[in-house]
Amino acid sequence: MQETLVLIKPDAVKRQLSGEILSRYERKGLVIKALKLLQVPRELAEEHYAEHKEKPFFGELVDFITSGPVLAFVLAGDNAIVSVRALNGATNPVDAAPGSIRGDYALTMDANVVHASDSPEAAAREIHLWFPEYK
Ligand code: ADP
Ligand code: MG
Repeated sequence: MQETLVLIKPDAVKRQLSGEILSRYERKGLVIKALKLLQVPRELAEEHYAEHKEKPFFGELVDFITSGPVLAFVLAGDNAIVSVRALNGATNPVDAAPGSIRGDYALTMDANVVHASDSPEAAAREIHLWFPEYK
């Protein structure tokens, strides 16, 4: 059993896609273990995306994730980390297969609808960061 941290980004919350996206994860068999809607403080956004601090798009990334409410949740299941990233599709929606979340709902790299942890180490760090009260 594995856990992963998922975010439905402000673009998708605004477009009222949260229910649709959550359904896809649940139908796959993943279980919601914790969930909250929040306006992301800038410090949390910067910490979440710390690995991208030196990238030219870091400022825009932080601006975007703080631009409106985000739905954050922990999903659990066998191989949850890889499975959620497969459901999400490629980072750039241009490369995301139809049928994936980004393939079906996104057009651009910045507004690409969802985030998910990319490794067990990232999942542990991100779950602790977004849900310090969890476990
Ligand atoms: P993922 O979200 O698939 O794990 P990354 O961790 O590489 O992708 O990047 C984090 C987020 O930063 C991406 O989801 C995307 O919104 C944004 N991003 C990544 N690369 C670029 C880029 N070259 N230009 C603009 N935004 C980017
Ligand atoms: Mg990433």
